Amino acid sequence: MKTDPIVESVVRKLQERSKVGIKKYGTTLYENNSDDFLVHLQEELMDAVNYIEKELQVRRDGTQLKMFPSNKIKCPKCGDEGHKYFDVYDQRNWFQCDGRCRYHCLLKELNTK
Ligand SMILES: [Zn+2]
Repeated sequence: MKTDPIVESVVRKLQERSKVGIKKYGTTLYENNSDDFLVHLQEELMDAVNYIEKELQVRRDGTQLKMFPSNKIKCPKCGDEGHKYFDVYDQRNWFQCDGRCRYHCLLKELNTK
């Protein structure tokens, strides 16, 4: 039978995680009828959203940004210099103030002001 190495890897991790949990808490998920598992799930999902945001921001700070060759322009809010860049992820042009106000907006919003 054909197996999926990705799924096999997840199965091994689940089994290892179960062993660690049983050792740590002295019970199993099957035996535990006192915890509110919806609360646990919500907490885990909130963590997950933060992990996604972290990874997206790391990528945006690096190779996913394409700077314009002559990208320095004046910030409309504070007058300091800012830069234009293209975000490969969302495929849009952005402006980021490098000065005091840290103003950040879509380039087309900047151009209509
Ligand atoms: Zn500014």
